[in-house]
Amino acid sequence: MSEGAPSPWTPDSWKSKPIKQDVIYDDASELETVLSRVTNMPPLVSSPEIDRLREQLKDVAEGRAFLLQGGDCAESFDYCNPQAIEDKLKILLQMSLVLVWGMRMPVVRIARMAGQYAKPRSSAYEKTSDGKTILSYRGDNVNGIDPENRKPDPQRLLAAYFHSAATVNYVRLLLAGGFADLHRPEAWDLGHVRNTDIRKEYQTIVNRLTDSLGFMGTIGATEDKATALNTVDLYMSHEALLLDYEQALTRSVAKPLPTNRAKCSATYEPSTPPRDTLAPELCDWYNLSAHFIWIGDRTRQLNGAHIEYFRGVKNPIGVKVGPTMEAEELVRVLDILDPLLESGRVTLITRYGADKIAQYLPAHIAAVQKTQHKPVWCCDPCHGNTTTAPSGHKTRSFEAIVSEITSNITIHLELGSRLSGVHLELTGEHVTECTGGSQELSHSDLPTNYQTFCDPRLNYEQSLDIAFTIAKVFEY
Ligand code: PEP
Ligand code: MN
Repeated sequence: MSEGAPSPWTPDSWKSKPIKQDVIYDDASELETVLSRVTNMPPLVSSPEIDRLREQLKDVAEGRAFLLQGGDCAESFDYCNPQAIEDKLKILLQMSLVLVWGMRMPVVRIARMAGQYAKPRSSAYEKTSDGKTILSYRGDNVNGIDPENRKPDPQRLLAAYFHSAATVNYVRLLLAGGFADLHRPEAWDLGHVRNTDIRKEYQTIVNRLTDSLGFMGTIGATEDKATALNTVDLYMSHEALLLDYEQALTRSVAKPLPTNRAKCSATYEPSTPPRDTLAPELCDWYNLSAHFIWIGDRTRQLNGAHIEYFRGVKNPIGVKVGPTMEAEELVRVLDILDPLLESGRVTLITRYGADKIAQYLPAHIAAVQKTQHKPVWCCDPCHGNTTTAPSGHKTRSFEAIVSEITSNITIHLELGSRLSGVHLELTGEHVTECTGGSQELSHSDLPTNYQTFCDPRLNYEQSLDIAFTIAKVFEY
């Protein structure tokens, strides 16, 4: 659309735009039946929780807090088990504590979890080892990883809803039950750190952290909002790729004025014209499948369906920004998604690659600085640094990941800007998918415990290494 007033937004206005990474189902009526069931399901998160995250991301954008976002590339339904969820929570909490200490500011934690099922793919097809061409795996909410099971199945959308619900529920009860106390650093085992100098450095940080926590406990400061050590917020996020599903969990919510409640329908019925009947000025649309959703690097076309959908929801949103994003295009993306110029409304998740960041990030920062937008600048050091090991495993090197983060910090500083967060593909488990880090994993170690269905993740130790590394960079 040309400049001027934007066309009216509705939860399904995205359908009139070109859709990238669309899924074609054989049975359209089965899809409709599933979507109407999801539309009638209760929400997975609440609008006040989303509003709270919006406030916190404003703090991040304005330099008063730091963002840590992390989790699997692709969640599998099998990861919905107590151990995997506890492991993920544990690493995110431990990393955040190291970062709170290193940055001397609160850390906002967002997990790629409880809905990170759909995957964009560079090709719709892949070849099997015996030369057959089959549909690519698109994530557990579309088809199965098993080559025999690649036909898109609408019932998987319902399964995704229930797996997300069970995951969110378990996270909530762990946090409510005091699981956050696990982030007490004196219990951390640093035995995996092979290099004795690095181990000593980590131990020094852990000792200082333990001392600080002990001191704050002694003076009764642990109830303080800024430190919030005994209870923590952990928000849920995913790439909102399958817009039919996202629309089914997009709900109209009365603005928080008591008199509004009665005038606003609680749910959106696709069969009824929404805005006409809902006193639009009294309501906001929220995606209640997650607190934070993001648009992938492959689906962020200015005139595309995803940008159209995202502009209408109140949730804070992310946009992946890779080397193919033009600087003027980035400004247009912000104009569309952040017309009210709200700090932290948009998180720009940049992912160029360690060898490309110096070529692209400065122009992106400079273009945004000329506007009144105040996005969160977040570094995804994973997606531009994926390589293939001689064994054929998709991998990433810890050194390249750290290099993209440190270049990112420096480039922002040089331009009078500030890196305010990191977005990482990680797991709390002891997998061998990325090389390097304090365990010094090499290409020949990859087959030992390579589990990912999609991109390689930092393991527990490497994730903690990243947190220590960032804390050190910011400390000095
Ligand atoms: C992802 O985050 O898993 C992903 C596909 O990233 P990008 O859109 O940046 O390629
Ligand atoms: Mn990925």
